[in-house]
Amino acid sequence: MHKFSENNPLVYTVKNRCRVCYTCVRDCPAKAIRIINGQAEVITERCIACGSCVKVCSQGAKTFYESISPVEKLLLSDEKVIACVAPSFPAEFTAIKDYRLFAAMVKKLGFDKVVEVSFGADVVAKKYKEKFKTDNDKLVISSDCPAIVNYITQYYPDLVQNIAKIASPMLAIDRIVRKEYGDAIKTVFIGPCIAKKAETDEIDEVLTFTELRKMFEAHGIKQQNVTGMEFDPPHAGKGSLFPVSRGLLQNIDKLGEEIDNDILVTHGHANFKDALEEVASGSIKLKYLEMLSCDGCIMGPGMSKSKKRFKRQSKIVNYVKHKLENLDTLKWEKNIKKFETINLSRELNTNDCRLAKHEEDDIAAILASMGKKSASDFLNCGACGYSTCMEHAIAIIDGLAESEMCLPYTIEQLHNSFEKINRSKSKLKDAKLALEHSEKLAGMGQLSAGIAHELNNPLGVITMYSNILKEETEPGSPMYQDLELITEQVDRCKTIVGGLLNFARKNQVRLVERNFEQFAKHSFDSLLKPDNVKAEFKSDLQNPMVWIDNDQMAQVLTNLEKNAVEAMPEGGVLSVGLTEVKNDIKLTISDTGTGISKENIDKIFTPFFTTKGIGKGTGLGLPLIYGIIKMHKGKISIESNDNPEKGQTGTTFIISFPRNGKFDTE
Ligand code: ADP
Ligand code: MG
Repeated sequence: MHKFSENNPLVYTVKNRCRVCYTCVRDCPAKAIRIINGQAEVITERCIACGSCVKVCSQGAKTFYESISPVEKLLLSDEKVIACVAPSFPAEFTAIKDYRLFAAMVKKLGFDKVVEVSFGADVVAKKYKEKFKTDNDKLVISSDCPAIVNYITQYYPDLVQNIAKIASPMLAIDRIVRKEYGDAIKTVFIGPCIAKKAETDEIDEVLTFTELRKMFEAHGIKQQNVTGMEFDPPHAGKGSLFPVSRGLLQNIDKLGEEIDNDILVTHGHANFKDALEEVASGSIKLKYLEMLSCDGCIMGPGMSKSKKRFKRQSKIVNYVKHKLENLDTLKWEKNIKKFETINLSRELNTNDCRLAKHEEDDIAAILASMGKKSASDFLNCGACGYSTCMEHAIAIIDGLAESEMCLPYTIEQLHNSFEKINRSKSKLKDAKLALEHSEKLAGMGQLSAGIAHELNNPLGVITMYSNILKEETEPGSPMYQDLELITEQVDRCKTIVGGLLNFARKNQVRLVERNFEQFAKHSFDSLLKPDNVKAEFKSDLQNPMVWIDNDQMAQVLTNLEKNAVEAMPEGGVLSVGLTEVKNDIKLTISDTGTGISKENIDKIFTPFFTTKGIGKGTGLGLPLIYGIIKMHKGKISIESNDNPEKGQTGTTFIISFPRNGKFDTE
């Protein structure tokens, strides 16, 4: 028998298989699974080896110490090895037609003898019966299920004194076969249970039925190629009923006569935990308490995964029926007498693993960190593996759980992260658009500079010669009119070329300190305003001094004001306003004109985009402004309405730039 420890655990996680579904956390009756960095880990010192986690894990991520190799080694040695088969074997090997074939298959693996543990159960049952006779006033807790015994010694140390210090049927049969076959033997228990692997070191090895199946397969042992044989003696009686619920009880004839009705038999861990809680708190008074961690030993974790509990149960009952019909009662009684004197006592020690109680404030703080502050936040959804938010919080303090296990909390965190990502995504998009725009402008600038340069000289020549010709021609003659048209159109060309050169040059600013209020007012006053346009100028600047490039900023104001006036052919109101927000100057230029349509608003900063007729607009005003404002480290935004149904039409350009852009190192 192996000594299990943290380094050599009985039950453990296969980490790369764990998908962190918390099913094992939910199912572990001993809170022996901790989640660390999103991985479920078995805490060996808390584990009661019930195998619940092994049973519920759909990924096969929980497994247990494998005994096939040590057993194979024993079988290959010169030792005399005896197999002790648990009474639940008919429930596992349902396809084997006769128990005699099964016994022969086990023997074929190389065992010297194959005996049934059931005879141990017979002897143990008798011992319990005697105990009730002598010890009738104190609660007796059956010690048959090793997982339950572990649970009580670890979590109900005060109840350890009530556990019957009587050997389990496995331990009993071990001592019996040693008496029968001599001490120089090795024993291998074969059964449905994982906890048995750690129950006692008197037995040499413990195989589960699933491991036995693997050995049959590995050795090619099938029922077709063996000749049936009876189990080796001593033969069992009712003890074979043991694995179905009320097993031991059914085995103790007329138990009721001795101990009345104060008996409780439970199976499954929800039930045993409740039963212990009630017994410990004194809410029920019992004389006999038998608990099985599994749904009877026929559903043990060392068996194949099957939900057919009742089929398994009927297989056991059929087997026992057949057995009792053929039982040589005289011989059985003789055997019982023979082993009556055998030592059936066992030692039990407490191993207190109870967790400390925590302060309410500490629990509340953990709950608050998961966004659980008021009653409505406590969903108790169980997704984390704990039945209440409170239990989860306590487990976090105990270092067993993590706050990320809370699904609603994690979903909320995820939503927040999504929002953050979306926000930065849209910022990125804006930045990308701005970058594309300035790249386009830079490209345009180079192109226009080139073209403008080339065109400027020939245009000068045309102007000069057309003016000379004009002077030599009689005014009013058709030729004179034609020449006048030429000079007029050449002037237009020069304006465009001038604009292009201007646009191309705008990659540098020369900042000087100016009184912006006076500066803007001057520009506003110099603008030619038709009579039907009402013009307003307003300044709220506390400190009017700012750093700007005079010429360029003058162009910004003039261009925007001109655009506003041009957008109001039927008249309206032009308002220019100055305010300051912290260290920024905010300039707004509003009109009550036509407004800009949605589809145009994205295009107005594109060079040469104009809605004004040929000869009227160049489409270079706004791109120029954009460049100048950027050079002043400022921002430009537009609000516009072109739909009279939605209220007053018109456009507002809002420009803001730092007052001391010269010193701003950003
Ligand atoms: P241009 O004035 O030579 O057309 P701009 O670059 O100054 O070139 O303006 C581009 C276009 O933006 C204009 O043709 C017009 O359609 C639109 N726009 C600019 N400002 C206004 C405004 N205040 N109201 C309505 N439309 C405007
Ligand atoms: Mg313009």
